[in-house]
Amino acid sequence: MSSSTDVLIIGAGPAGIFCALGLLRQGVTRRITIVERGLPIERRNCPKERTGRCVGCMPCRITTGFSGAGAFSDGKLSLSYEVGGDLPELLGPSFVQQTIGRCDQIYLDFGADPHVEGVDNPDQIAQIRRRAIRAGLKLVDCPIRHLGTERAQQIYARIQRYLLDAGVEILFEHDCLDLVMEQGALGTTCVGAMVRDASPGGSSDAWTIHAGETVVAVGRRGAAWLAKLCDEHGIDHEPGPMDMGVRVEVRNEVMNDVNNVLYESKLVGYPHPFRDKVRTFCQNPGGFVSQENYDGRLAVVNGHSYKDRKSDNTNLAVLATQHFKAPFDRPISYSQQVGRLVNMLGAGNILVQRFGDILDGKRTWPKELSRSNVVPTLPDAEPGDITSALPYRTMTDIVEFIKSVDLVVPGFAAEETLLYAPELKFYSNRVRMTEDLDTSIARLHCLGDSSGWTRGLMMASVMGLVMGERL
Ligand SMILES: Cc1cc2nc3c(=O)[nH]c(=O)nc-3n(C[C@H](O)[C@H](O)[C@H](O)COP(=O)(O)OP(=O)(O)OC[C@H]3O[C@@H](n4cnc5c(N)ncnc54)[C@H](O)[C@@H]3O)c2cc1C
Repeated sequence: MSSSTDVLIIGAGPAGIFCALGLLRQGVTRRITIVERGLPIERRNCPKERTGRCVGCMPCRITTGFSGAGAFSDGKLSLSYEVGGDLPELLGPSFVQQTIGRCDQIYLDFGADPHVEGVDNPDQIAQIRRRAIRAGLKLVDCPIRHLGTERAQQIYARIQRYLLDAGVEILFEHDCLDLVMEQGALGTTCVGAMVRDASPGGSSDAWTIHAGETVVAVGRRGAAWLAKLCDEHGIDHEPGPMDMGVRVEVRNEVMNDVNNVLYESKLVGYPHPFRDKVRTFCQNPGGFVSQENYDGRLAVVNGHSYKDRKSDNTNLAVLATQHFKAPFDRPISYSQQVGRLVNMLGAGNILVQRFGDILDGKRTWPKELSRSNVVPTLPDAEPGDITSALPYRTMTDIVEFIKSVDLVVPGFAAEETLLYAPELKFYSNRVRMTEDLDTSIARLHCLGDSSGWTRGLMMASVMGLVMGERL
């Protein structure tokens, strides 16, 4: 069995969606087909809302389905080209900043909150920056538009309706298994992809969708798969930087100054002795720590916050960046192995440990957690010892960085501060691309977090929009 289309997009995350929007906004009448492993947005829900515990859906509903990891994300749109990946290296900072403005307008057109966080109160921002300078940290300016988890879902639902009404074919619960290549006199050309109906009771037979252009936008959960395809089909790629770390959770009272002034503090440091880049990422005032599941039952920690429902805590990631040099070129496999080790110690769960226990060289016990001011918002995280699983280098980076942040945010390095692990970001396979977003294979393009060039909603959307317009 086979079918055909003009533009085949694999993955309906922000990158894939904005690619389709980019095509439609050009008035293009070509047939557009999107293949998406997960569910339409109205059927996406995380059973944990009812059960209180992760039931291990495969595929994970937090990260798959229309709008990808975007639907259940906190929906913080970073409005600066300095945040969210390395696209400015490819397309130039001013072009990226200008495209951020255009994507932001699209989000506004579909109902995003017009309020922008982190631009009022310049005097208080200056005070926070002074403390950061004293602590040896850089404070990155980044205005934020906060959609909120529940409103992000409404906005993406409107976009889904718009695409379907415009005639875009979306094959939900369909898995892309492989790319289809043809060898010719001028080299290899991608001519489509092999897909399979993955719905319960669907036929297990794979078929080919022939396509004029094929766009792979499979996000972090598809990044390891795309790295494998790069090897198998000779798509030029290289190991990119690898981010690994923990999710930190403290009481709102500790973070209030920063939350109220900036919403999200983007602090960057290069702590002694390794001098790796370490940064704060994805801060959720009044938010909830969450779990996402990857293939092979790998449980990874994340965090989000609702616009209206608030907890007593703020969570944020602390990520250490490492660049592996030859001969090693498998950073995604490396972080998966570390993640599995952490999961093993937590009997398949996320591990949580108090910062004071890490400094004292001991594990955390449940009764110690219950004595703290901070109550974990991920109740099924297992108290234990993350230092037995995270690499020494990463752990040292994190501990030293947290001590520095304490000079900006007093109380951040308190004994009771919670560290959840593993926080892993699977965007470290970088596909070589031209500034026209072409790969080394004719008629094949890669987008978003799986391409290794983006790390967030806005940059993935920008890359998608540019791709759609260039196609
Ligand atoms: C809980 C959480 C909170 C977050 N909060 C924020 C935030 O506040 N701000 C921010 O900027 N970023 C945030 N992020 C990150 C952000 O969601 C991602 O950076 C962004 O969604 C990347 O977009 P993408 O289109 O590249 O990939 P994704 O959104 O991951 O979409 C990829 C899609 O491809 C599909 N897919 C994968 N493999 C296949 C296959 N083989 N066949 C068919 N389909 C496939 C997946 O099902 C998925 O729907 C958060 C992420 C999570 C999980």
